[in-house]
Amino acid sequence: MKYKELVDYSHKLKSVSSRNEKIELIIDFLKRLVPEERIIGVNYIAGIIRQGKINIGWSGIQSVMNVKRTEEIPCDLKTIDAYLEKIKNVKGSEKLKILSELFARMDESERKHLASLILGEIEQGAGAGMVKLALAKFFNITEQEIEDAYLREPDLGIIYSKLIKGGKEAIKEFKIKLFTPVRPMLAESIEASDELFRDYKDFIAEYKFDGIRIQVHRQGDEIKIYSRHLQEITDQLPEIIEVAKKIPANEFIIDGEAVGFDANGMPLPFQILSRRTMRKKDITKMKEEIPIQPRFFDLIYIDGQDITAEAYRRRHKILKEIIENPLYLVPHLEPKTDSELDRFLEESMTAGNEGLMIKMQESPYQAGKRRRFWLKLKPAKTIDCVILGAEWGHGRRRGWLSNLHLGILDETRTRYLMVGKTFKGLTDDMLRWLTENLLKYKVAEDRWTVYTRPEIVIEVAFNEVQKSPKYDSGYALRFARVKRIRNDKMAKDVNTIIDLEKYARIRR
Ligand code: AMP
Repeated sequence: MKYKELVDYSHKLKSVSSRNEKIELIIDFLKRLVPEERIIGVNYIAGIIRQGKINIGWSGIQSVMNVKRTEEIPCDLKTIDAYLEKIKNVKGSEKLKILSELFARMDESERKHLASLILGEIEQGAGAGMVKLALAKFFNITEQEIEDAYLREPDLGIIYSKLIKGGKEAIKEFKIKLFTPVRPMLAESIEASDELFRDYKDFIAEYKFDGIRIQVHRQGDEIKIYSRHLQEITDQLPEIIEVAKKIPANEFIIDGEAVGFDANGMPLPFQILSRRTMRKKDITKMKEEIPIQPRFFDLIYIDGQDITAEAYRRRHKILKEIIENPLYLVPHLEPKTDSELDRFLEESMTAGNEGLMIKMQESPYQAGKRRRFWLKLKPAKTIDCVILGAEWGHGRRRGWLSNLHLGILDETRTRYLMVGKTFKGLTDDMLRWLTENLLKYKVAEDRWTVYTRPEIVIEVAFNEVQKSPKYDSGYALRFARVKRIRNDKMAKDVNTIIDLEKYARIRR
């Protein structure tokens, strides 16, 4: 297949909105692939390149985007894959040289598509999830069967090739293989624990660490570690290897979190910790600067047995038997009452963690479709912000000032710094009141925004604080939403950047 044809399919996918139409388009696309390009084609239509990260960024791509076209014969999928493989295997400026050679063989729409594909930002309203639905429909198998295969075989292209060769029965043949990463089980969010005992029975609670997901595979002396995104990170985490070596089992796949601690024993925030996996050199130095330890929580495979279908209760029991040092296990409790659960949550938060994980004792290890087997309980944090401006709304909010610019005080309490924008959580009454009152404090405006004097204070809930160059505070609130308008507070009473840093546990 010519790459151009794939780009056309991608555009068509973007232009249709119904799920069924998208699924039909993907099925149509699958049928057009010849055997040698099945694996590549399925990945591309899912917005994935088989090479994973090839370490070319947006600005690099832009710098070669407009090279002169020298070749009119369009490239096919295999040619693109071969080029990407070459790019992956060379260093530095060589990468862009090869990319520009490839661009010289493409028209503008192909170049744009490939750029998004490399950056993992294909915008067609369909990705791996939609391709899985298309495969289920095409082969007349259930979504769960596809999910179970995808857990064990992380390449949708390989799944498709095997199914088309072996027929729908082949879906049962996907087996866990050591040193092929298993797709990790994920959790759904909840904010409060009030109704857990009403809605669920037989669950346990665990500390939810804010670390790096690790999947440790071992067969005899060979040990490899994979990240949440199935990248190999073995060389970056020697401390984990040391622990894994001592586990008394010959073969296993263990799931857990790598956590870093500061001198006071408080866990390091993810933003600091993530340097451990990003940096491939100076590992010894990194190990000293940011020492880490494993906290294991699940067992996927042990001595030849895939135990994903076993209940969590049983998987955890075996895990406990093989992890001899309890320090390396995630703190775990079977709460009997609300107050026991609350106490455990408090304990986890005081120890500097994000909250709790709630896990159903009878649940299998399952990736993909979120079945509420794992729930993450991360209590929202709140701060008081002052409104520094607001943008005129669209759609339902047209005519109202809605997207609010949120400000907090700097260290000296003299200047307001922006930490984000939000229109979430605003009721119609709030919109009306805010529009009327913000206009009273207007100091400037442009087409979209009314800038105001810092007067109106609101309480804002958020889940995380991230470092961000976008705002002058250097931070951005994630998932910010308005809780209420604080007419009882003045602008000088809002929280400061010091409070925010405490929340974020980010040190300078
Ligand atoms: P989130 O990234 O917010 O969706 O939360 C899920 C992530 O929490 C997992 O991918 C793990 O990396 C991490 N995590 C921390 N503690 C636990 C735990 N006890 N059980 C499972 N995942 C955990």
